[in-house]
Amino acid sequence: MEMNFDYVVVGSGLAGLYSALCASRYGKVGLVTKADVTDSNSYNAQGGIAAVSGKDDDPEYHFEDTIVAGRGLCDYPAVEILVNEGPALIHDLMEKGMHFDVTESGRLALGLEGGHHRRRILHAGGDATGKFVTSFVLDLVRKEKNIEIIPHCALLGLLVTGDVCDGVRCWNSGTSSEYLIYGKNVILASGGAGAIYRRTTNPDTTTGDGIAAAYNAGCKVEDMEFIQFHPTALAKEGAPCFLISEAVRGEGAWLLNLEGERFMLGAHELSELAPRDVVAQNIEAQIRKEGKGYVWLSLRHLDPEKIKSRFPTIYARCREYGIDMCDRIPVAPAAHYTVGGVCCDENGESSIRHLYVCGEIASTGIMGANRLASNSLIECMVFAQRAVRDTLKQSGEDHSGHIYREEFHLSPENEEFYRHVRKEVSDIVSEDAGIVRTGEGLEKGLAGLEQLQRELQARSAADPGEVCCRMAENLLTVALLVIRGALARKESRGCHFRADFPEEHETFRIHTVQQAGRDIAGIPVKDKI
Ligand SMILES: Cc1cc2nc3c(=O)[nH]c(=O)nc-3n(C[C@H](O)[C@H](O)[C@H](O)COP(=O)(O)OP(=O)(O)OC[C@H]3O[C@@H](n4cnc5c(N)ncnc54)[C@H](O)[C@@H]3O)c2cc1C
Repeated sequence: MEMNFDYVVVGSGLAGLYSALCASRYGKVGLVTKADVTDSNSYNAQGGIAAVSGKDDDPEYHFEDTIVAGRGLCDYPAVEILVNEGPALIHDLMEKGMHFDVTESGRLALGLEGGHHRRRILHAGGDATGKFVTSFVLDLVRKEKNIEIIPHCALLGLLVTGDVCDGVRCWNSGTSSEYLIYGKNVILASGGAGAIYRRTTNPDTTTGDGIAAAYNAGCKVEDMEFIQFHPTALAKEGAPCFLISEAVRGEGAWLLNLEGERFMLGAHELSELAPRDVVAQNIEAQIRKEGKGYVWLSLRHLDPEKIKSRFPTIYARCREYGIDMCDRIPVAPAAHYTVGGVCCDENGESSIRHLYVCGEIASTGIMGANRLASNSLIECMVFAQRAVRDTLKQSGEDHSGHIYREEFHLSPENEEFYRHVRKEVSDIVSEDAGIVRTGEGLEKGLAGLEQLQRELQARSAADPGEVCCRMAENLLTVALLVIRGALARKESRGCHFRADFPEEHETFRIHTVQQAGRDIAGIPVKDKI
């Protein structure tokens, strides 16, 4: 099957939807997504969107908080863009009819989250911001005649000739066939890779396919060692690893060990609202000490009515599993956000022409070594708009006009093999590239992944072009990028903690860059505006 568009957008999270919406003004858009259109991290986002709107706030303060959380690895120009361009896009969204929560006096209700020194988090539906914002943008997308949504169609690879991207190669699980989808410009917005871990807040589809496809096509990928673990996800046997938003701590919830002590008090000046890496590492240390697999998030001292109205989704989900949120919740960290990703410029353009990345897949340099809470939804919008604007500068003449052949088929007997690789990969990264890492553990993890690669090669050789093998290969590529990045970074910084190198080192104030066929390299941070 072949399709042709002016823009091919991959992914229906906020980055993909907003890119498609912006692009639809300039041409025909094919919006390809792996599962249902609402399946995304964006839809599950709870806390909110960080954008300056309060009188006591200023983009400069937002900049400062972002830089502090990023621990020396934020690219300053990118952060400047984010904090300065974000508020206008929020304003525009509200002009179009998006309702964020307001106070009794009708002002925007601004939340506070870890690492922010001002209330600047807009939220909607209490703790259902992602659902409200993505649904709102999806409605706009659905009204656009120029956009065709192609669900259940998973990106497997990119169509690239020389240094020009012509489109994407996908597998449609509905029709069980390959789709070659050509586009004058391709925007990859297929999200991060949190779901390669065992405990994750991400949906099952978030396996970093776009990162693997870009890497395999020759793009540079950077800082993949920085996987942010959210400190507080529900930790009850038989219950899903549901996120308990940072905003809950923003409203005053305490973290208690099993003795009932507030262990964050002595650990950081912001106690429970310290940056996520600090909170996650402290929880992990408590869990290792106490051996029960969780600590308590206690809300006993807070007003129950306020909790129920501010966090209706979390309250209801906890109740489903017999937990009273107004009392205390068992929590433990879970893989949450992929800080690194595909290298790009300040417009999201990768090193391959006509190939853009946007949202969690992209390494814009905004997050540095650790994402500041609620900075990612706004990143999706700011950089979607910039990517589309940038495409207008490109001339259509660069295109190779190359025609590609279909390459893939499905052998159902390999589905079991894919599940095997997925399980092994999640065990390896969870055990060897989790919150606390060591050189020895990472080497062991690397050896495990290489062994899986050998198994895969044998199977692929016996059945070339088999789609489960390609999906397994993409999974292994992403896991290898994480482990190799973590091995190369012999220091601890942000959300990358090495027990054998527990300090931060100036020599590692660099981005780790990986490119197929080359040794891992370090490039300097852009800290000049
Ligand atoms: C539970 C949770 C709560 C969060 N809360 C907040 C918050 O309050 N504020 C905030 O700023 N950030 C939050 N985040 C982070 C934020 O939601 C994400 O970083 C952001 O939504 C990423 O958007 P995206 O569009 O880049 O990716 P996603 O929203 O993950 O969308 C990626 C899309 O690509 C599709 N896809 C994946 N692989 C393929 C493939 N091979 N082919 C085709 N399509 C593919 C997926 O199905 C999905 O539709 C939260 C994340 C989680 C998981």
